[in-house]
Amino acid sequence: MSVQTQTITGIVIKEIKTKESDKIITVLSKELGVINIYVKGAMRLKNRFHSATGLFTYSEFVIFRSRSSDLYQLNEASVKHIFHALSANVEYLALAMYMSELVCEVSVPNDMNNEILRLYLNILHMLTTGKWQVSLCKAAFEMRLMCDTGFRPDLLGCKTCGEYEKDIFFIDVVNSDIVCCDCIKSYQADRMILEKPAALAMRYFAYADLEKMFSFTVNDFFANHLSMVREAYVLRHTKPEYKTLQFLKSVQSQEM
Ligand SMILES: [Zn+2]
Repeated sequence: MSVQTQTITGIVIKEIKTKESDKIITVLSKELGVINIYVKGAMRLKNRFHSATGLFTYSEFVIFRSRSSDLYQLNEASVKHIFHALSANVEYLALAMYMSELVCEVSVPNDMNNEILRLYLNILHMLTTGKWQVSLCKAAFEMRLMCDTGFRPDLLGCKTCGEYEKDIFFIDVVNSDIVCCDCIKSYQADRMILEKPAALAMRYFAYADLEKMFSFTVNDFFANHLSMVREAYVLRHTKPEYKTLQFLKSVQSQEM
């Protein structure tokens, strides 16, 4: 009986070594969303799948599924792109690992929302080419991914009066709603100040077309601020702890 194969493109976002030299890779794909593929012998350097199934390699895979298993098996694989800068910079690598954990946490198996793959690849591009700061890449990814998976906060206007355009807003770090400086009655511990550039950036992350999302820049102060706010939102709405986020923070604290 012949097996039905399927060709997909995607990036390896996780790998787990199994017995001997085999491994299971998690691929964020255009065609099938997040899937797991069993790769025989891939840990051996001379294996023909070694490069194409490496972590954070964007590849084309020919796969098939046996009836007895939920895992896909690999038939062919060829490299489309390798993000070389990731292996040379531990902070970049740590962010990519956190992005992967986040994708695995929020995505549903076989979800064909290929916006997530495009977002992931675009953020890796901005990161590894140095076009955006690490903190801005992180904040943009956290925000957009949450929006694309059903957690889009309302950032269009003040929660009380609806005002869109103000120099200062106050954002609720948990729910991400915003209140303008005229409507806020008194100091609220759970609200952080959100100045205009940060508010604009967040609206870009949440509402702009993916291509346009990468057309702006902010300074380090606002990039860090956005990262802090978006992270709080992620932790509140997904799970309270990410091992890879702790790793990213430990790398960053060593570099400071
Ligand atoms: Zn208001």
